[in-house]
Amino acid sequence: MLGTGNTLGGVRRVKSSTAVFAAGKIFLVDCGCGVVQRLLASGISPNHINKIFFTHHHTDHNGGFIDFFISSSLNRLDLGRQLPVEVYGPTNTKEIISKMRQSVQSDVSTRKNSDGSWSKIIYNESDSGIIYNKDGLEITVFLVDHGSYKPAVGYKFEYNGKKIVFSGDTSPNDNVRFYSKKADILIHEAYNCEWIKETIKQNPQDEQTMRTVMIKHTSTLEAAEIAREAETSHLVLTHHIPSPVPIAAIEKQYIRGVSKIFKGKISVARDLMVIS
Ligand SMILES: [Zn+2]
Ligand SMILES: [Zn+2]
Repeated sequence: MLGTGNTLGGVRRVKSSTAVFAAGKIFLVDCGCGVVQRLLASGISPNHINKIFFTHHHTDHNGGFIDFFISSSLNRLDLGRQLPVEVYGPTNTKEIISKMRQSVQSDVSTRKNSDGSWSKIIYNESDSGIIYNKDGLEITVFLVDHGSYKPAVGYKFEYNGKKIVFSGDTSPNDNVRFYSKKADILIHEAYNCEWIKETIKQNPQDEQTMRTVMIKHTSTLEAAEIAREAETSHLVLTHHIPSPVPIAAIEKQYIRGVSKIFKGKISVARDLMVIS
């Protein structure tokens, strides 16, 4: 888990990104701001990554892309990324990421081998079905419901008899329920309903914004219901709204009631947490 915070950003929890290790490669799911720092802090060289799966294009999920794109191409202790970046995502991905790429052409053009493969992007857009199938790893993309932001997707990674599902940003969604059936790990976004109600009480001017947040996202208790219905083994909550201070006592309050609904393993994702 690289970034487990929300759109506001934070010191202890940066914006969304996760690294998946499978089939001898490292895959990124989302690429929010802070991704390069978190990769380096994890001991993962960005130079070895060239596959990114976007769940959608809210900036808390793609704002770190350009930083990753350039940083991963530079020599560190090892050689910079030589391969093009393979970008996977919903059907507006090329439109958005190609504009980002265009915006840094003046930077790219001053660098060594500026028209080398590293400076290219390969786009793979899909909202549903198998989007990647190689070396025994199968990745399936499915539509989710992120309120007014469309399209938004989730992903299922299957490898070596194990299944990990990413909900992406979504309100409670039947596709997430379906694809996470008996998953080993369901990584689900979440907000804490009680904490949001308290926020509204303290800041009545934010009521409309916070109500919109609740329409677009899934509460901790709703995520627990989904994990129970899907019979997943391990529920990992992330993209926390509001973002709890990463200490056990506060996180315990954040997931109050979750274990009453879902009897499997429950984790409140923290930046740099490793899940096997
Ligand atoms: Zn979003
Ligand atoms: Zn988000």
